[in-house]
Amino acid sequence: MADARLKHFGWGREGEAITPEEERFALERYRRRFGVDGFAEKAPPALEGIRLPSPRVAPPPSLAAICSSERYDRAAHTYGKSYPDTVRGLLGDYAAAPDVVAYPRDAADVAALIDWAGSIGAAVIPFGGGSSVVGGVEHRIDAARYKAALTLDLARMGRVLEVDRASRAARIEAGAFGPALEAQLKPHALTLRHFPQSFEYSTLGGWIATRSGGHFATLYTHIDDFVQSLVVVTPEGRLETRRLPGSGAGPSPDRLFIGSEGILGVITEAWMRLQDRPRFRAGGAVRFKDFLAAARAVRAIAQSGLFPSNCRVLDAEEAHNTGAGDGSFAVMVLAFESGDHSVGPWMERALECCRDHDGTPEAAESADAHREGAAGRWRNAFIRMPYARERMVPRAIISDTFETAITWDRFERFHDAVTAATEAAITAATGRPGQVTCRFTHVYPDGPAPYFSFHGLGRHGALIEQWRQIKEAASDALIAAGGTITHHHAVGRDHRPWYDRQRPPLFAAALEAAKRALDPQGLLNPGVLIDP
Ligand SMILES: Cc1cc2nc3c(=O)[nH]c(=O)nc-3n(C[C@H](O)[C@H](O)[C@H](O)COP(=O)(O)OP(=O)(O)OC[C@H]3O[C@@H](n4cnc5c(N)ncnc54)[C@H](O)[C@@H]3O)c2cc1C
Repeated sequence: MADARLKHFGWGREGEAITPEEERFALERYRRRFGVDGFAEKAPPALEGIRLPSPRVAPPPSLAAICSSERYDRAAHTYGKSYPDTVRGLLGDYAAAPDVVAYPRDAADVAALIDWAGSIGAAVIPFGGGSSVVGGVEHRIDAARYKAALTLDLARMGRVLEVDRASRAARIEAGAFGPALEAQLKPHALTLRHFPQSFEYSTLGGWIATRSGGHFATLYTHIDDFVQSLVVVTPEGRLETRRLPGSGAGPSPDRLFIGSEGILGVITEAWMRLQDRPRFRAGGAVRFKDFLAAARAVRAIAQSGLFPSNCRVLDAEEAHNTGAGDGSFAVMVLAFESGDHSVGPWMERALECCRDHDGTPEAAESADAHREGAAGRWRNAFIRMPYARERMVPRAIISDTFETAITWDRFERFHDAVTAATEAAITAATGRPGQVTCRFTHVYPDGPAPYFSFHGLGRHGALIEQWRQIKEAASDALIAAGGTITHHHAVGRDHRPWYDRQRPPLFAAALEAAKRALDPQGLLNPGVLIDP
């Protein structure tokens, strides 16, 4: 399986899928929820059946060896992995395929490809794993302004180049996928320990460009915390930031590029802060009758200075959907880890905080507790979930997630307002009630990062419009109630209307000025974060 190609439609590699039992489990839940006997199923077109527009440009001989306009390459780089991306794949709509896909081997190739794009007026779309759920890798260019779209896939740049054991840091190429990156660090007994749900099929460069959120629920929540320095290739040249454990020298150049989503330059490598592999663990699940009581326990833990590695709370329905509960109680998945010392006392104190809020621990202080009981069932569902979408969309099931962050003082009202707006939108869009669930992915002393899932039964032919109605209502509610349009899924093209409302206008002007300085022709990822 390791050598199989990534799918052009769906999650993971060709040949990978949810099992028939997993599919039956999910469909049975949906059948009961929507009160239907079954689902009309449509099949996505085979790769050979997809119609692609003719490429508008061909690479010069000097770049031909690292470029492709083959059917697979263009189809597999047309979309990211959002709900509407999957619907358009199902419909065989590949009108937005890039003209050329390039696979640079190093920063010099990246510079040469950007130069070529500049010389012919083509847009350049940096591409890591293509796991964007916000339209980050789909070009959507204005044909009157751009002659073509060149996707720049960094998959061939996946090596760990250097390890500094004393400082616990490594220089890593931006195209490294999660598993390959960790495998190269393992012989050094080091680890990055940044595990987004998309870990297997996303890259270091993509994580940095989108400020991804990993599995740590506290302290090291975003990839930002691990970036020591960067190398970035821009249309105006290459820049390298200084390796430092910290610096107070003015605004941080790293911070300008972290989260720049490919509009300012292509990140080609980074020095990353690493950790010792954990040897001590304590973890388990805690039950709460009430989600809001669980949220108060989370607040107590988040403000205690304990900093658990995992502190996820699932509401009762989310716990039920993932097999972590039966729908009658909320579940907190709690874990501590360390490469240095026993974490039992930390776990004990966190459990006291839970008991103070009527939490009932299911298991505690077993080295493998995070893989057992409710915590283990949730972990398993979390890993397998991404494969479900390509089997549910063909049944016209609308199932998606959105995530945000809010301060504790506003959380309870915020949660109720967002849930109510999303539930109402599902009923309005699909003609029947659906389901909205919530969990926390990350927690801070001053507030949680709530992550909502929603489910509705759509109609073939109307899926994108129905999804859009729900997504817009949910996003409007997030912004109106004071939250952010995204805590870790990035802005891309799809979150622009709400990002534009949330950021101060003068900051937008400053970002546009940075763009003009680094990319005066506006080649890089037009439409992401700012107007092209
Ligand atoms: C099933 C699933 C689960 C997910 N779980 C999480 C999660 O737990 N946490 C989380 O934060 N996100 C998650 N995401 C979203 C996504 O995985 C992240 O945004 C991830 O960081 C993207 O990495 P990538 O390598 O796939 O980048 P891509 O999707 O290829 O690109 C994302 C953006 O970054 C730009 N980009 C990519 N590489 C570079 C580079 N080297 N230089 C400059 N720009 C670049 C692209 O142009 C694009 O705008 C999930 C997505 C899916 C589909």
